[in-house]
Amino acid sequence: MVNKKTYKTTCCYCGVGCGMIVTDNGKDKITVEGDKEHPSNRGLLCSKGLNLHYTAWDKTDRLLYPEMRWNKNMPRQRVSWDTALERTAKVFQTFIDKFGPDSVGIYGSGQMLTEEYYVANKLLKGFIGTNNMDTNSRLCMSSAVVGYKLALGEDSVPCTYDDIELSDCLLVAGANPAWCHPIIWRRVEAQKEANPNMKIIVVDPRKTDTVRSGDLHLQIKPGTDIVLFNAIARLLIENTWIDNQFIRQHTEGYEKLKTKAFDKTIAEAADLCGIESELIFKAASWIGNAKAFLSMWTMGLNQSVVGVDKNLSLINLHLITGQIGKPGAGPFSLTGQPNAMGGREVGGLSNLLPAHRNLLDDNHRREVEAFWGATQPISPKVGFHATEMFEALADGRMKAIWIIATNPLVSLPDVRIAEAALKNAKFVVVQDMSNRPETLQYADVILPAATWTEKEGTMTNSERRVGYLHRIAPPPAEVLSDVEILTRFAHKMGFQKQFDYLDTEGDVDNAKIFAEHVALTKGTNVDLSHINYADLKEFGTVQWGGERLFEDKKFYTPTQKAQIHGCDSHNPSEKTTPQYPLILTL
Ligand code: SF4
Repeated sequence: MVNKKTYKTTCCYCGVGCGMIVTDNGKDKITVEGDKEHPSNRGLLCSKGLNLHYTAWDKTDRLLYPEMRWNKNMPRQRVSWDTALERTAKVFQTFIDKFGPDSVGIYGSGQMLTEEYYVANKLLKGFIGTNNMDTNSRLCMSSAVVGYKLALGEDSVPCTYDDIELSDCLLVAGANPAWCHPIIWRRVEAQKEANPNMKIIVVDPRKTDTVRSGDLHLQIKPGTDIVLFNAIARLLIENTWIDNQFIRQHTEGYEKLKTKAFDKTIAEAADLCGIESELIFKAASWIGNAKAFLSMWTMGLNQSVVGVDKNLSLINLHLITGQIGKPGAGPFSLTGQPNAMGGREVGGLSNLLPAHRNLLDDNHRREVEAFWGATQPISPKVGFHATEMFEALADGRMKAIWIIATNPLVSLPDVRIAEAALKNAKFVVVQDMSNRPETLQYADVILPAATWTEKEGTMTNSERRVGYLHRIAPPPAEVLSDVEILTRFAHKMGFQKQFDYLDTEGDVDNAKIFAEHVALTKGTNVDLSHINYADLKEFGTVQWGGERLFEDKKFYTPTQKAQIHGCDSHNPSEKTTPQYPLILTL
């Protein structure tokens, strides 16, 4: 007789962060269903989430043991954990001694759990002495992060999913949530059904599934987003659809926007965007007359040479209409990866420190050093970010790279540089669950890592909601959780005392790591110091900053006023040349 057990956990696929009930039927079989009590998805799951149990069932491609190559031409050999980690520690130390700490680094992923990010970041910045900690989240979110920082004073998504049901005008730009954030889009469609007067504007060069459920498709030419947003701003101003009191009392920089917005006539803007002027007017009138205006965007704005300006020019529309910090309103950047947000919360990028502290701020570095008991001052030099890391490996400035839960050979913008980097690297560590990534052919050390359901931890979804993931079954063979691998490595590097996370049985105590992380957030805008694992397990998820940010209209800038920016109407952001005659869009 098999005892069935059920666990509440979080879907690990995307930034929507849906709650799930996993039932362990024994015999390596689990089933999943949506958690009706979870506020993000209310019991719904998309096809990816509904099939997530197969990833736990299927062990055919799993890495099961640590492996090594003694040189690049040799086949992989199974080794013990001690051998793999001791060799890695020795090689890292040799490079650090010979070429300095910036010769090594970790390239991670938005799939990593918060605790994993925390330990990797602490080890590199506080103890190894380099800020070469970056992840693939850099590739998708950095424009949104900088946009929020410049406009609102911090990397802070002001909205919550419940704003969907409170909004009467939604603008989606450079995103296809019907495919990529399906549960959010189901909530939008349900809201549209309940309130047919809700207006949905979709800005996209392509006719996507999202366009199909919209009311207005602004099918602009690729790269003309800022021209469009400036034109909408101009119409909002000309038609007095702006909130003068909000602008006066809670913002700075309005005149700069006005100058840029009036730079072009609506007819000129429409021509550049390749759409009719009337459509821009229609969009502006819906936004200007909305009770609650919400916007959502992803890579169409973020992955661009002017991605920050694209973000700012959209956020401007909220700031001049006062559509932020109130129910149903605000600029809502959707994260693609399940834990891009959690990674930023622990400072897991090359220019960040925990709790959104700034690496370049002397006081922030001192605070974190003291908290960690760092063995050396945190370097004030920003580390290599994602693409720079691979360039540095290719040209020899970096010698060793540790890749965790990502495959740069298929996901970096220029995979040829990634290939040259891994060929030229003196030492490559690949930590993954699967035997399939192309990176393995370049690996000197291969570390088999646990997957979803085999490890415990937390993730933060797009609406700042921290969710707990249960360990449901032990990992197979000699596989370890990522955080345990990193902790054991820290010990091999000589930092047992500062990474004292293993219990007497040698298992990692994730609750202790989480407690350390949240203690570092105390008194910041990302304050999570009031929560712990026990609460998350018993009471469910928690949103840092509360349900919605800026309801008091006090922004995280020095003057507490939001910053309106004047953005040039680049036309388009990327130009074609005879050598590069095409603009491609996804
Ligand atoms: Fe999982 Fe995202 Fe689908 Fe929700 S929307 S079930 S988080 S893949």
